[in-house]
Amino acid sequence: MAPTQLTKTAQQARQHLMVPAQDMKTLGQRALPALSHGEGIHVFTENGHRLIDGPAGMWCTQVGYGCSEIAEAIADQATTLSYNSPWYTTNTQAAALAEQIATMTPGDLNRIFFTTGGSTAVDTALRFVEYFNNALGRPSKKGIVVRRDGYHGSTALTFSCSGRSQTAPHFDPPAQRIHYLSSPNIRLSGGQTEAQFLETLVEEFETLIEANGPETIGAFLAEPILASGGVIIPPKGYHARFKEICEKHEILYISDEVVTAFGRCGEWFASEKVFGVVPDIITFAKGVTSGYVPLGGVAISDKLLARVSGENAGGAYFGNGYTYSGHPVSCAAGLANIKVFEKLDLLNHVRKISGYFNQALQGLRDLPGVVDVRVSGLVGCVECMTVDQRIIAKAEDRAMATEIDTLCFEMGLIVRPLANLCVISPPLTITEDQIDEICDILRTAIIRVTAEHLAA
Ligand code: PMP
Repeated sequence: MAPTQLTKTAQQARQHLMVPAQDMKTLGQRALPALSHGEGIHVFTENGHRLIDGPAGMWCTQVGYGCSEIAEAIADQATTLSYNSPWYTTNTQAAALAEQIATMTPGDLNRIFFTTGGSTAVDTALRFVEYFNNALGRPSKKGIVVRRDGYHGSTALTFSCSGRSQTAPHFDPPAQRIHYLSSPNIRLSGGQTEAQFLETLVEEFETLIEANGPETIGAFLAEPILASGGVIIPPKGYHARFKEICEKHEILYISDEVVTAFGRCGEWFASEKVFGVVPDIITFAKGVTSGYVPLGGVAISDKLLARVSGENAGGAYFGNGYTYSGHPVSCAAGLANIKVFEKLDLLNHVRKISGYFNQALQGLRDLPGVVDVRVSGLVGCVECMTVDQRIIAKAEDRAMATEIDTLCFEMGLIVRPLANLCVISPPLTITEDQIDEICDILRTAIIRVTAEHLAA
């Protein structure tokens, strides 16, 4: 299309917009498809193309689009009190949402600090670890242990904690105090059983702690499911074993539930009920407002806080915060979102339908080019390779998956393009018929695209 035929949005975007993970080769030349509106699990492009929102935006549009209860709560709050400084005032919405979330978190994680999204939530958790160990007089206990293939955000520190930071071209190497463990992806285990692989991973963690000295390790930071790093589901018992090791060495266990909280795995928080671990700190974002407005937060254990607050505080401030911490409009959206979950009995719905979702996606396992299908709750991926037994994806595998995603888009389904994976993590309101529709489109796209690639 000649530039003059572009829509106004496309022209504006090409000239002025820079997007996350901007492809710098095409800056100013290409604009992403512009969406105009959404209804339920569907979104529509400016030119009227109707699409199923396969990845729920960025794993976040839990209740779907066009929810009038949330929209009205946002409008009411914006009219009543659009802002307050969280430094010297608070508001009814932030206090009520903190109380609600404290009832949903496991253990004694009863103190909620609100942030602007997931990165700032993880950043806050890591700054708390720093504060905590300084306050306890152990300034060297600052190491952060993460996994390759983990993703924790896009601030300088949280990006350093993400597996890809080690190989990100044109960014400086990550901070020295960050230690990387293997990805808990059984496909990379060289044929071990799940139980053997767990022992290998546990041994690696223990060796790392011993090599560096437990007095230098402050926290273990982990997503229950490594979402953006490839929908990787660790072996059974992984989180509980890692927590035991953390406890032994006084290492804080931070569960990054930015993706898994708020219903994605059928629970408000997945750490305890799905993955058998009560963390010291949980981070959340995304689903807390179903993506209607930005909000994130950190839930911290009372026991931890007691050690560095009140008479143990030594006069210190936890000097961390954002202009929009506990924003009244965001928190009103969060409260309305929870009410919608309850009205729709959404957690139960996810618990019931996730079996169907799993079965339907597993039905694609035998298609040509498909080497793995991984599903947990309403998070799923189909992994594609041009060569059957290949473990590490190459450029041609990524290109094939991108073509599958593009064809799905043409056929009315958004699939999150993630390296050589087709990721599906739909709005939680999804029905069985809609899951069938998603799988039919995926099946057709996989068969058509792989026929060309595998024959080549
Ligand atoms: N943690 C996890 C587990 C995530 O998946 C993400 C975002 N995909 C983040 C943190 C960062 O969240 P945000 O993009 O809202 O800053």
